[in-house]
Amino acid sequence: MPLSAENARIRLRIRTGALSLTAAAGILGLKFLTYRLTGSSAVLSDALESIINVVAAAFVMLSVWLSAKPPDSSHPYGHGKIEYFSAGFEGALIILAAAGIFRAGLASLLRPRPLPHLDTGMLLLVAAAAANLALGLLLIRVGRRTASPALEADGRHILTDVYTSAGVIVSLAVVRLTGKLWIDGAVACLLGVYILAAGIRLISQAYCGLMDASNPELLASISAVLREHRRENWIDIHQLRAWRAGDNVNIDLHLVLPRDLTLSQAHAEALAVETILKEKFGQQTTVLVHTDPCPDPSCTLCNLHKWNRETLTMASEDKKRLAKQCNSCQSKQPRNNEPETETRRKQEMATIFTKIINGEIKADIVYQDDQVTAFRDINPQAPVHILIVPNKEIPTVNDVTEEDEQTIGHMFTVARILAEKEGVAESGYRLLVNCNRDANQEVFHLHMHMFGGRPLGPMLMRQ
Ligand code: AMP
Repeated sequence: MPLSAENARIRLRIRTGALSLTAAAGILGLKFLTYRLTGSSAVLSDALESIINVVAAAFVMLSVWLSAKPPDSSHPYGHGKIEYFSAGFEGALIILAAAGIFRAGLASLLRPRPLPHLDTGMLLLVAAAAANLALGLLLIRVGRRTASPALEADGRHILTDVYTSAGVIVSLAVVRLTGKLWIDGAVACLLGVYILAAGIRLISQAYCGLMDASNPELLASISAVLREHRRENWIDIHQLRAWRAGDNVNIDLHLVLPRDLTLSQAHAEALAVETILKEKFGQQTTVLVHTDPCPDPSCTLCNLHKWNRETLTMASEDKKRLAKQCNSCQSKQPRNNEPETETRRKQEMATIFTKIINGEIKADIVYQDDQVTAFRDINPQAPVHILIVPNKEIPTVNDVTEEDEQTIGHMFTVARILAEKEGVAESGYRLLVNCNRDANQEVFHLHMHMFGGRPLGPMLMRQ
């Protein structure tokens, strides 16, 4: 996530926290005024809960500000967990208020007192409840949008306040209609029990957050992202663990790769996992990838790599022999600024598609003529994922010459034919050609990907 978006999110949280504090103070004043007018213990219980709102809103402000601080040497995982403290603190305050409310309710249940100015009191309470409703919904929305548990907990707490106010308004109306004063005390007692349950719920959520309890929702969304972006070399991912601290997500996992990968290839795969997860969960995400070699000696993917390596060595020795014999081959030698391993990789991968075209390696060929061959991708990224390949070995788009123009144009005609055949011509499809490292080209034999059969999302990953 770009830094400016991150800052905007933090600013929005702090502004919303400040609004919550101001509004909670105003609503508290309104409720105490109602209590002074009516003397109702149910109204008092409602007002007591509002004191907690003010204290909680102040704590939320503090925690939102603290959690926005970047990781430092003494807090390498950031300060996000302060938000769980805030939620826990709020839960504890709610439990205290519940006890106070229950006490006041019991007193007026046992010794009912007359309740003056009921009409004005009810009107004031309706105004306070409406203000709280708007504030609570806003806090929940901003909390979700900016991934702030403290703001969300505050919003939920304020909504419980709306329910209590509604209960109190109804009870005052019943008292006014029936003249039965004990109802006021009974309603206050019931509210005490309800508020107690809300407090216990908040404390248990905070406890789970602080203890890094497993978060099935987060694990499911990580698995879905990795599945969607799965790369050819990823044999398995296991021991996935993830926890949230505020909006910091920490993820660690084991990635099983083919045994024959070089250290730098394994590093590239681990880096790809990290990039994909940061793209999804924000740049502040911490990702730790432990790479494991595939333990299965009969694994087809590992054997394919072994085969590739052998072909690679042969190909490079053949090239050296030829280079000695023929001066014109010098131009095909690795350029000085291109690492030899990369050149070798290009040679190695090119042979795979040529071998498919020549029928030496099995593939699900869906079209072939004298210029172009098309076959299904071995690791499909969409229900329809076909590779359209010129029979002539052209490594990348950069190597296309004028004499290839007819073949390249023909690749589009084949794409149109296949789109109709696969039933995606109307629903839509995407044609894509990767070129070199920044585009993650893996096989250095020019090919056009054809994706279809599902909505394909935005064209590029966001930066
Ligand atoms: P690119 O990253 O554009 O070079 O794409 C190379 C594509 O070739 C990847 O999507 C691979 O899954 C696919 N691929 C590699 N080997 C084979 C194979 N033997 N059969 C079919 N597709 C393959």
